[in-house]
Amino acid sequence: MPLWKQIFIALTLGLLLGITLNQTGNSEYAASLKPVGDLFLNGIKMLIVPLIFISLVSGVTALGDMSTMGRLSLKAMLLYLATTAVAIMIGLALAAIFQPGTGIDLGAAQAVTAADSPSLVATLVALIPANPVAAFAQGNVLQIIVFAILFGLAITLAGDTAKPVKVFMDALAEVFYKFTGIIIAFAPYGVFALITWVAGTYGFELLAPLAKVIGAVYLGCLIHAVVVYAGLIKFVARLNPIRYIQGVIEPAIVAFSSTSSAGTLPITMMSAERNLGVSRSVSSFVLPLGTTINMDGTALYQGVCVLFIAQAYGIDLSLVQYATIILTATLASIGTAGVPGAGLIMLSLVLTSVGLPLEGVAIIAGIDRILDMARTSVNVMGDCAVAVLVAKSEGQLDEGLYDTHQVLKSADVATQVSPVKA
Ligand code: ASP
Repeated sequence: MPLWKQIFIALTLGLLLGITLNQTGNSEYAASLKPVGDLFLNGIKMLIVPLIFISLVSGVTALGDMSTMGRLSLKAMLLYLATTAVAIMIGLALAAIFQPGTGIDLGAAQAVTAADSPSLVATLVALIPANPVAAFAQGNVLQIIVFAILFGLAITLAGDTAKPVKVFMDALAEVFYKFTGIIIAFAPYGVFALITWVAGTYGFELLAPLAKVIGAVYLGCLIHAVVVYAGLIKFVARLNPIRYIQGVIEPAIVAFSSTSSAGTLPITMMSAERNLGVSRSVSSFVLPLGTTINMDGTALYQGVCVLFIAQAYGIDLSLVQYATIILTATLASIGTAGVPGAGLIMLSLVLTSVGLPLEGVAIIAGIDRILDMARTSVNVMGDCAVAVLVAKSEGQLDEGLYDTHQVLKSADVATQVSPVKA
């Protein structure tokens, strides 16, 4: 059975078991499965830093020149920003239609303090890792990207002398792809455990009052994935959108259950290369970059939540405030880390930008995990969509692979030699 089907079945069974345990008053059994999920998540996290570095170095040396790198960055950045802005607009529109905040009592909200927004200059200066070992130790993805690109370029510039380094890095990249394959084989178990835990812990009582917020975020995520991503794939890249959906299903479900797009990165990279035919040069650059700065699901969620909070407090927003929300939420999503709950912290920043009460964050906090699941899936799907678009426009998409879609089987996932070309 293909891996994505196994993961999907694990998701469904986990949901059913979790809800049953919750409804029969046995939530503690659901919670006891969490360590199994954490084991799987640790396995993926173990790979993130070496995988980004090694595959990006191997990808850059395959590209060979700086101008291609510059073009790739520009295309990816523009697509990331444009899709994010559209996502917030979808969020705002749905919240305006569904009015999730009308009639909500915010009496019990506690005080919350706003997150600090990092200054642009500080962010730019911090791009260059003064201490690369610290960057690796802290898992600072942007710094690792910068270091890897420069390292890769230096290998290319050193010419024949550095050939052994290139060969070594290419070989190491293969080793890490195998390594990722071993961990991915455990995805169904990890997903099952995590989903049972979440479904078992969150009862309907907790979710019911905010059902409209949840509905709006989930519907928005669905619209964004089906209309925006699949639409871009079909009309801009001129590829079959169904294949795209099939290809991203594994990382999307892992993101759904782990609520961390950074934590899902190894699986996202693997799927983009093996399922969607994106070249390693593109995937190893565009995906880690996207995981760090592209958060469409998070932006969409912020659009819904900001309007929800405004409605709950009976505050009408002006056109200028809507524009401010779109701008700050786009910027905030760039600064959001791909870790569980990060979007909630950034929500306080967006609220501050338009002078809305921060207490609203406390209301959302109770159900944030549920919203995080949907938005993280969309974050990951967006990264993959952009990777496909960029790869296609650069002639770096293996369309044969995209069309035939070598769906992973769990039996061969750990043994198969990655068919990906650099
Ligand atoms: N959990 C999200 C992610 O990892 C970030 C967020 O909280 O919105 O992509």
